[in-house]
Amino acid sequence: MIISKENKLTEKQLKEVESIVGEFGCAIQVIYGAHRNIYAIIGDERSELMVNRLVGLPFIDRVDRMESIYKLMDIRSEMAGHRCRFGGVTVGDEPLIIAGHCTIDPNNANYLFETAAAIKEAGAHALRGGVWKPRTTPHSYQGDVSTLDTLLEARSRTGLPIVTEVMDEEQLEIAVKEKIDMIQIGTRNALNYSLLKQIGKKTADTGIGILLKRGRHMGPIDEYIAAGEYIVSNGNPNLFFCPRGTMPGLDGYRNHPDESITPLLKQKTWAPVIVDPSHSVGRAMYVPACCLAGMAYGADGLIIETHIEPSRGIGDDPVQSVTPEILKKIIEDARAIWGFPSRYTGLS
Ligand code: PEP
Ligand code: MN
Repeated sequence: MIISKENKLTEKQLKEVESIVGEFGCAIQVIYGAHRNIYAIIGDERSELMVNRLVGLPFIDRVDRMESIYKLMDIRSEMAGHRCRFGGVTVGDEPLIIAGHCTIDPNNANYLFETAAAIKEAGAHALRGGVWKPRTTPHSYQGDVSTLDTLLEARSRTGLPIVTEVMDEEQLEIAVKEKIDMIQIGTRNALNYSLLKQIGKKTADTGIGILLKRGRHMGPIDEYIAAGEYIVSNGNPNLFFCPRGTMPGLDGYRNHPDESITPLLKQKTWAPVIVDPSHSVGRAMYVPACCLAGMAYGADGLIIETHIEPSRGIGDDPVQSVTPEILKKIIEDARAIWGFPSRYTGLS
């Protein structure tokens, strides 16, 4: 990773750097931060000669070589200074709350408009709504691109930024064109490396946030962090991890709750953690406890399926969505225990 003296290299300086690393079979990937860019060396960066030539350039401060399977995501990397912002919140200043429908009803746009107004009133920072849905069986409703207009309309009515999942490159292109504020990668695509690379590339320098859910088949934590590296190393550092429960489920819950991995993630990597209680426990009545557990584990925020009238929702909403009234209480309680884990930081 190349650290420049100024926040950004000029085009001429970048060309010079690229030409040096090119001689050693490497390339440069620019990672666009809000204030400063980071220049990752893609390829084998071990050559002493290459590093010495780079360090010799008057506009280069230093070259960091990280012995880690995820060089950029590593908490010791220069990237650790990057602070993600979303929904008017600088992550780390207060709990970031995303709420809204699992699935947008193509026949009843008003439900989403009413939910959007109510979650805003309850104190949420952003609106979620599933346009394209990954469903276990092809016989279930698969989502409908027409509901994207409903989501965009809800954004313009409330001013809330919006979050939706994409499953392929065609959907990704539409989402980027419509300036979706945060793109979700669902649990089924969490290890789809070609999609992760495309997401990093197509959202580089757009400010779009990426919510990377954890793969449902409980893999090692390092594998999850390395999946995030695919997005960041392709240009977008606005990455949020999202534990959402793993398989096999704990008897009675939809999945096996995994908000407990939050402190492990935070020890290893700098990216924020947004816990998804809804898919984890999978029943509205268990969601508040799971939210508060996530906060107690030190999560930076929550993404909570919420519906103005859950029993009239579609997809997961009738079973897992909480009402805006419950959401309001969760937000109050989440704020009350915000920062609680830091009372123990540094104690042994
Ligand atoms: C969702 O958020 O509605 C969803 C399908 O998520 P996951 O990928 O975690 O199942
Ligand atoms: Mn859902």
